[in-house]
Amino acid sequence: MDTCVFHQMISIGIESSADKLGIGIITDTGDILANVRRTYKPPHGSGIHPREASEFHSSYIAEAIRDAYLEANLKPKDVDLISFTKGPGLGPCLRVGAVASRTLALTTGKPLIAVNHPIAHIEIGRLVGDLDDPVVLYVSGGNTQVIAYSQGRYRVFGETLDIPVGNCLDVFGRNAGLSDKEMPMGRVIELEAEKGTEYIPIPYVIKGMDVSFSGILTHVTKLLRSNKYKLTDLAFSLQETVFAMLVEVTERALAHTKKSEVLACGGVASNKRLTEMLAEMSSSHGNGVKFTGLDANLAIDNGVMIAWLGLIMYNSGNRTKLSDTLVDQHFRPDDVVVNWR
Ligand code: AMP
Ligand code: MG
Repeated sequence: MDTCVFHQMISIGIESSADKLGIGIITDTGDILANVRRTYKPPHGSGIHPREASEFHSSYIAEAIRDAYLEANLKPKDVDLISFTKGPGLGPCLRVGAVASRTLALTTGKPLIAVNHPIAHIEIGRLVGDLDDPVVLYVSGGNTQVIAYSQGRYRVFGETLDIPVGNCLDVFGRNAGLSDKEMPMGRVIELEAEKGTEYIPIPYVIKGMDVSFSGILTHVTKLLRSNKYKLTDLAFSLQETVFAMLVEVTERALAHTKKSEVLACGGVASNKRLTEMLAEMSSSHGNGVKFTGLDANLAIDNGVMIAWLGLIMYNSGNRTKLSDTLVDQHFRPDDVVVNWR
């Protein structure tokens, strides 16, 4: 009797665009076999230093890759495809992932795919959230964009004109002396904000479809240093203001595109108040829009999303030449031609 052996395609993804080093392994049916993450923690009071973060990644990448193979119970030769983050992100950090990926590809003889980080967030969200065509609010430490698919590309409908919203929360938290906690700064601010009772007016800065946070950061830092306000009230007011701006731009993208799903991703999307506001806006918009957030494991930067995007790109005929595996710190989602949807 003939036996037909069905070979599932398996992809490994390497993410190293900022402070997180992520290695993920996923099958072409969407089974997650490994999701390993190591996070670089800057010294108390300072932000991510790109060279130091990249040294952290260099020290741990071999071990993290080995752990991912162990978690998946696989050997390098069992994996069919290697994907890595081409950008956007911090150059020195991105280069560690790119070098490791090229090395893996050359030693195993497997194909290599360079992928765009924001699109990877979107595609893993579409997979696990079972979404077809969402308006995406991507809010993290390094990015703030409202993105939606239109005519063959993921288009950026709105974005920050200066610093990302996560960076605004992080710097405010550092200015308030909160960076000694073993938690993401946004989470520390969230806990302070939950205890806030009074809204202190803060500038609300939307320009067209874009948002701006650097003036807001300067303003709240001045309020903090005036010693006239409670930190809890400032954290509460900061969150209410910046989240309302993000929700407004997301709703306007919904109104324009007439889509019926909203996806929130990136580290800031793990904030309960933000997801509550997005859910409320979605349910009251038009005939009701479905809002989806993601569990932290897949919302925060991870290797699984990189592995998944590489896989769907590869299966749609995309190939990356070795000479095109240089990183691009400013790689935009709208630079990519989307031929898989
Ligand atoms: P990412 O760049 O996607 O890894 O996300 C990191 C960013 O998410 C940092 O700016 C964190 O401070 C922020 N973050 C993490 N958890 C929360 C939270 N619960 N609320 C707001 N921001 C958060
Ligand atoms: Mg990210």
